[in-house]
Amino acid sequence: MSVQHDPVQRADFDQVMVPSYAPAAFVPVRGSGSRVWDQSGRELIDFSGGIAVNVLGHVHPALVKALTEQANTLWHVSNVFTNEPALRLARKLIDATFAERVFFCNSGAEANEAAFKLARRVAHERFGPQKHEIIAATNSFHGRTLFTVSVGGQPKYSDGFGPRIQGISHVPYNDLEALKAAISDTTCAVVLEPIQGEGGVLPADPAYLQGARELCDQHNALLVFDEVQSGMGRSGHLFAYQHYGVVPDVLSSAKSLGGGFPIAAMLTTEALASHLAVGTHGTTYGGNPLACAVAEAVVDVVNTPEVLDGVKAKHERFKARLQQIGERYGVFSTVRGMGLLIGAVLAEAWKGKARAFFDAAAEENLMILQAGPDVLRFAPSLVVEDADIDEGLARFERAVAKLVVAA
Ligand SMILES: *Cc1c(COP(=O)(O)O)cnc(C)c1O
Repeated sequence: MSVQHDPVQRADFDQVMVPSYAPAAFVPVRGSGSRVWDQSGRELIDFSGGIAVNVLGHVHPALVKALTEQANTLWHVSNVFTNEPALRLARKLIDATFAERVFFCNSGAEANEAAFKLARRVAHERFGPQKHEIIAATNSFHGRTLFTVSVGGQPKYSDGFGPRIQGISHVPYNDLEALKAAISDTTCAVVLEPIQGEGGVLPADPAYLQGARELCDQHNALLVFDEVQSGMGRSGHLFAYQHYGVVPDVLSSAKSLGGGFPIAAMLTTEALASHLAVGTHGTTYGGNPLACAVAEAVVDVVNTPEVLDGVKAKHERFKARLQQIGERYGVFSTVRGMGLLIGAVLAEAWKGKARAFFDAAAEENLMILQAGPDVLRFAPSLVVEDADIDEGLARFERAVAKLVVAA
């Protein structure tokens, strides 16, 4: 028997929600693969993937199976007890990465919070309280808690909330000389996204990450990779660090890790993890059985040659067509990114107008993303069908053509 709900619509948002978001004019109600339907029954192609989250599209059978089986078994026990899905998922993440220990939590910000607290704790216990400085990149994004907006290099997110967390400095991304000048023996961690996501889909130069690794080693600082957006197959490797061959000390994962179910993880080594002794850190929902069961299924499906090699092939298909559209209408200065995290940088004449492209795409039944005002971001499912890529980009071209005609 289905429950009767009162009807709701987009206009209700402004009556009931904190106005910190500006959602699109329609309300999605159902999804399947790379397609979504709104309240009116209109079908859209989804290249936004819930902001790089729906790594296997909507209602993937393996994830539905994992979730429903777990839902009929055990939902939650807290960390006063451990549970089988959490232990299995931790083992799989360890087997697939540099990591030897895992801390589960619920969001990217929370995974980064754990990473930053770990870095400070390690430095405090090994070297003393003066070694607490964190260096991060300008224009980076690490989440919305006070610590993570303080580390994130975008003042628009950290201004106006009282004093920021102290002991944090920012250097330009991909500028090794600037990092070299900033790092010192009071640095406890260097925090980088291997691909800046929110900041405009900007991949790191290999020499930059390599150089950062060497500088951290020279100064006894931890290298923290925020792979909340770049990880879980999006780059064509399970994690982007594996593409670069530069191994961090601490890695945060979220977004695609749960494929649409909230979960995050901080990965690190055994020696570093030992600094978070019993009682030093925690979160009630961390390692929740439902979340871990879904994430285990995500890892099982994503961490296979079929899916990861498919990402590389789909990248080429996507990028070639976007470049063609960019050239035809003169709207892009470049198309960049890795795997299925692709950024189309708006040409000079279109700078600041990313939202107009977002709206025009929605009118053509296509969901895309922005990464700031100057970059269009595409983060589709890693198993998006080639036919959906072609049809979605055909819709996108119609949206671009309309904008150009109207300009
Ligand atoms: C989205 C994101 C975060 C924040 O994740 P939440 O789950 O929203 O807290 C942190 N870092 C990066 C690189 C992200 O893209």
